[in-house]
Amino acid sequence: MKGSVDTYQHKGLRKQLVNKLRDKGITDENILTAINNIPRHFFLDSAFDKIAYEDRAFPIEEGQTISQPYTVAYQTELLEVKPYEKILEIGTGSVYQASVLAEMKAKVYTIERQKKLFEINRNFVFKGRYPNIKFFYGDGFEGLPTYAPFDKVIITAAAPYIPPKLIEQLKIGGKMVVPLDLGPVQQMLRITKLADGTYAEERFDNFSFVPMLEGKNGH
Ligand code: SAH
Repeated sequence: MKGSVDTYQHKGLRKQLVNKLRDKGITDENILTAINNIPRHFFLDSAFDKIAYEDRAFPIEEGQTISQPYTVAYQTELLEVKPYEKILEIGTGSVYQASVLAEMKAKVYTIERQKKLFEINRNFVFKGRYPNIKFFYGDGFEGLPTYAPFDKVIITAAAPYIPPKLIEQLKIGGKMVVPLDLGPVQQMLRITKLADGTYAEERFDNFSFVPMLEGKNGH
């Protein structure tokens, strides 16, 4: 069972988390407001109720994780999200990152390769609150050609390389934020697609993610 009651205590812990993210260098107030508005404990088993607002990753179903709030905020900040942008997310997981983007009024297209997680997310707690999230079961390396081009792409698993099809599906001037696997750690990269179809690359801090895997898992 996931958490479903948002108490004053939860709200207080959430405020503390937001202050911690601010102290760690997150400056985009729209991101901090989104994190303050979203009950993260609703995305976790109720066993995590008391610790849901610690700045940590936690396990979810199918051996996957909900990203650390700092990581979510960091990736979102690099993405420079603006209202009504079309954003493709690879790795739906708990739907927490997608919810932050949706709370910031983006149009979110999110892909998950684990069938069970995709099924669980059908009954996503905030379906009504975020009609601007569309869920897909598939392989993120393929992207969503039918819905392309996207303003932004965010990969929330460790990518072994920059997926070429996702570059193709970006608008010119569009950006992709991707943790690139360097072995023991992943370095956060921001890719900007150029007019000639190639891309420029900026490199940021190191993080730790579950792997981005080829193909789907389930029927
Ligand atoms: N954004 C998520 C983080 C989940 S962890 C959240 O906020 O909770 C990364 C997720 O990426 C896992 O659920 C994993 O199954 C998924 N994933 C890994 N490789 C993938 C791929 N090729 N296509 C789609 N999803 C993938």
